[in-house]
Amino acid sequence: MDSDEEMAQTRKLVTQQNRKKKKSGGFQAMGLSYPVYKGVTRKGYKIPTPIQRKTIPLIMDSKDVVAMARTGSGKTAAFLIPMFEKLKAHSAKGARAMIMSPTRELALQTLKFTKELGKYTGLKAAVILGGDRMENQFAALHENPDIIIATPGRFLHVIVEMDMKLKSVEYIVFDEADRLFEMGFQEQLHEIIHRLPESRQTLLFSATLPKLLVEFAKAGLTDPTLIRLDVDSKLSENLKLSFLACRAVDKLPLLIYLLQSIIKAKEQTVVFAATKHHVEYLNMVLSKAGIPSSYIYSSLDQTYRKISVAKFQHKKVNVMIVTDLAARGIDIPMLDNVINFNFPAKSKLFVHRVGRVARAGRSGTAYSLVAPEEVPYLYDLHVFLGRAVRTVPKGKKITDDGWWFGEVPQRVIDSEAEMVRQLHDESVDLQNLKRVSENAYKHYVKSRPLPAQESVKRVKDVDKSGVKLGAHPCFASVKTGDESERLNLLDALRSYKSNTTIFEVNSTNKNPSFDVMKNKRTWHEKVVCSNRLKEANMRDADMEEEDQEEDQEGEEEANQEDVKNVFSTVIAPSKHHSGRETSQRRKGKKRKLTDIKDEENYLHYRPADYQSEKGLSVSSTFEQQASSAVLDLTGDDETGIKKKNNQLKWDRKKKKFVREEQDPKKRKIKTESGTWISASYKSNAYRDWRDKHKIDSNPGDSDGEGQKSRSGRPGRLVVMGSKGRLWHTKGSEEASGTKKKKQFKELKSIDQIAKNRNQKSKIQNFQKHRREEKRKRRTFKNQKMKKQK
Ligand code: AMP
Repeated sequence: MDSDEEMAQTRKLVTQQNRKKKKSGGFQAMGLSYPVYKGVTRKGYKIPTPIQRKTIPLIMDSKDVVAMARTGSGKTAAFLIPMFEKLKAHSAKGARAMIMSPTRELALQTLKFTKELGKYTGLKAAVILGGDRMENQFAALHENPDIIIATPGRFLHVIVEMDMKLKSVEYIVFDEADRLFEMGFQEQLHEIIHRLPESRQTLLFSATLPKLLVEFAKAGLTDPTLIRLDVDSKLSENLKLSFLACRAVDKLPLLIYLLQSIIKAKEQTVVFAATKHHVEYLNMVLSKAGIPSSYIYSSLDQTYRKISVAKFQHKKVNVMIVTDLAARGIDIPMLDNVINFNFPAKSKLFVHRVGRVARAGRSGTAYSLVAPEEVPYLYDLHVFLGRAVRTVPKGKKITDDGWWFGEVPQRVIDSEAEMVRQLHDESVDLQNLKRVSENAYKHYVKSRPLPAQESVKRVKDVDKSGVKLGAHPCFASVKTGDESERLNLLDALRSYKSNTTIFEVNSTNKNPSFDVMKNKRTWHEKVVCSNRLKEANMRDADMEEEDQEEDQEGEEEANQEDVKNVFSTVIAPSKHHSGRETSQRRKGKKRKLTDIKDEENYLHYRPADYQSEKGLSVSSTFEQQASSAVLDLTGDDETGIKKKNNQLKWDRKKKKFVREEQDPKKRKIKTESGTWISASYKSNAYRDWRDKHKIDSNPGDSDGEGQKSRSGRPGRLVVMGSKGRLWHTKGSEEASGTKKKKQFKELKSIDQIAKNRNQKSKIQNFQKHRREEKRKRRTFKNQKMKKQK
């Protein structure tokens, strides 16, 4: 029986077996072939993770997929298992699958996984990474691997050198795609994708979905399906949210109080801060206050980052301070608390942050420190989550059942503020870090998105109404009784706003400026009052109009939906009114609205969680789905923030805005696809290598097993199931290129060893001969001089 027949029979058996256990939701139900299934069981996987359960069947159905999944969710196996299933066995026709990784570490980890999971498939994999010798990579590609795992920069370099067409590629994965874009591989990715056949299957795995990535997916993927696990379950039911109102300057004492007095010592807490400078500053303050913590931010050295995360994961420290950008890739499944030191400007980001708490049946709390300027974002969040802001009424005792927005008692702040002040007085470093983080915060504020106008208005209305917040119930144990008068006075002082102008200060009623201001006030008061009344009437009329319009639109949409259900494509003029038309219509009508809304019995035409569902919905087209999933993270340091802000720069010579180049001296060439890539890509290294090894054809050109180099060294090629070790070379990161000094630790052939030894002994002989000559000349000279004397 030949192997093909044997495979077919095994597959049949597996499928039969699967049918019996169809409801099990396990790997068997996916209809995997025997070699793949064996690899999965040997790896010890019993049931698929959620991302695997969702993606593997779709990928096996040849669909293009955009999957939002974090490291630790089992994403690597989610694209490797169906890949093995598609490739089945080794073929000499050239690379059929490609995996693009942002970093060398991730690529090597994927290679390790590929080798372990695909152990019984007999497939060959090659890695092409920056920092490795290019000659070895040419050799590896000439071995006709089935799978190429690569970092985009070097891979493009190699294929441009080799003029490789990539015609045989059927399956490409962009792993950690958001990081690929963040690291600036955009042009390389466009160029690589341009060289692939149209019929390929494209998969994109990413923790977040920035706008750039959506654009890339729209252009490079065919009718992709978006799979989201990031916000699938919104917020856990076991998660308690506490929103703590305090002044920005009081945040630090409050953080210390929370960590020392409210959160138990054994609980694990992640603190989210705005920028890397805040992270450094908070870390120093906490360490001086005797709270051990670790920290990470995006530009932190990779090794230090790993150590930091490991310290927290292994509970050496129970507090970790992070920025959003840095926290994205890390896997901490058991988290008890999250503290939002800076309130996130995007509601989705809030869900992302607190999504790590209260999982797997555990409970947890998310504390958010809300400064007055951040309150509109709090309202935004509540709209997004479909809940009303639950403000603590002043002077009332309430139970802490979550979602309360309340004041922090002054006594809490006072208890720590003195210590914080002392720490700053004693340490110049701390003062410097504080100053730097305050400056960074100014940049951060400029770069963060504005809150919704409506939320700003609501906050203003609450402020105007003069309703005061009560103390948050999480501080119930703090006694405030005796000091209530003092605290009230402090409250009044904090919110005091003088009505007198500079003309009235220290002036009596005999003073002319006093009279002028008095007259002005009486005259203007009437105008202000009448304007306010007009505004209120117009707002009421607009709201009524809007309600009616939305009802009408709802009906129209329902009609259109009916039509869509019958026809797959509907070509018709848009029925939406233009904004101008609507506002003109609005101006024409002014009606008075009598408030008939009874909160208890009022039925909304939208469900309570309309806004959050809108944000998180899984609707039909990728574009719709992606638009709600887009999350652009702002940089956590100045360069990141500036990069986002200054994408265009004024060129004085050209007299127009131009895109800012990283390095203006960098020469670029235009490729077949129209992408501009570095001119240094083509250096004829491949031609020299082919001449040296007497190879005539490109990989994939020949029918057989590929033409091996004469030295027979396969570079970084791994054959699944073989016992050969991974070819591991130490080298610099992708970006550092060939300029950096490379340290190689490779296996060498006998020929090469002999040749090296020969060369070495030749050099040594020559040096010995020269030394001898010199010595002779010296003695001859000495003798001559002696004779002359
Ligand atoms: P990744 O998200 O690919 O980095 O995977 C995280 C970890 O989960 C790796 O150590 C995998 O070996 C492991 N893993 C992946 N899939 C499964 C599974 N189905 N069952 C148990 N562990 C898994």
